[in-house]
Amino acid sequence: MSDFNNCPQLYKYRTIDLLPEPPSIDAERGTLIHTVLEDLFEIPAPDRTISNAAQMLPEKWQTQIEEKPAIKELVLDSAAWFKRAEELLGNYFTLENPTLFEPTYRELHLEMDLSPELYLHGYVDRLDVAPTGEVRIVDYKTGKSPKPGWEDKAFFQLRVYALLYWKNHGVIPKLLQLIYMGDTRLIKSTPTEKDLIKTEQILFDVAADILRAIERNEFRPRPTKLCDWCFFKAICPAHVG
Ligand code: SF4
Repeated sequence: MSDFNNCPQLYKYRTIDLLPEPPSIDAERGTLIHTVLEDLFEIPAPDRTISNAAQMLPEKWQTQIEEKPAIKELVLDSAAWFKRAEELLGNYFTLENPTLFEPTYRELHLEMDLSPELYLHGYVDRLDVAPTGEVRIVDYKTGKSPKPGWEDKAFFQLRVYALLYWKNHGVIPKLLQLIYMGDTRLIKSTPTEKDLIKTEQILFDVAADILRAIERNEFRPRPTKLCDWCFFKAICPAHVG
């Protein structure tokens, strides 16, 4: 949905045509950190230390390479690669103390048919249910936090998770939490019923636009400065011919 909103042509390349894209070092670093943070909660609470988390990095990275051998070429300086990964984990530990709580779910799959045409699903990094029943949805980001004024947009993904949780469990999550390890910042939001109904409406609107584009086979390119980072620029009608 985010691709479609940014550029319908990009959405077509990725989601309709399923054109392959080369792996991205930032995305692979993100996967590595997410894996470590997921598995960190497998070990007893007192042992969830920064040094134990850092020790998990080489093994998890090796597994990642075995699953996707092409990513090995991305890392030219392995010492620098692990140093950056350790820094990001260090930033996480300054924002949260994982020895003090037990998460309820990690990588929780939420899904639902919002309508006969609209199936929605996603994986929540972490979802914690307090003994008193309050729900907190947590998402880890290895990049930097949004600039002032852009936080609301950043919470859209978590509001979609909150909507799915509400529809499935009848409880509106109390807190949405984004943990940005890139610049050591944690931002929170408390969704209201009105926010989630608005989110649902946005989903319906974007889905209707996507279905219309599919029906007409009309995916207009929307060139912006982001095109310089788009792998498909060389074949995109906005830039070719
Ligand atoms: S190059 Fe720009 S306009 Fe073309 S698909 Fe990519 S993002 Fe869209």
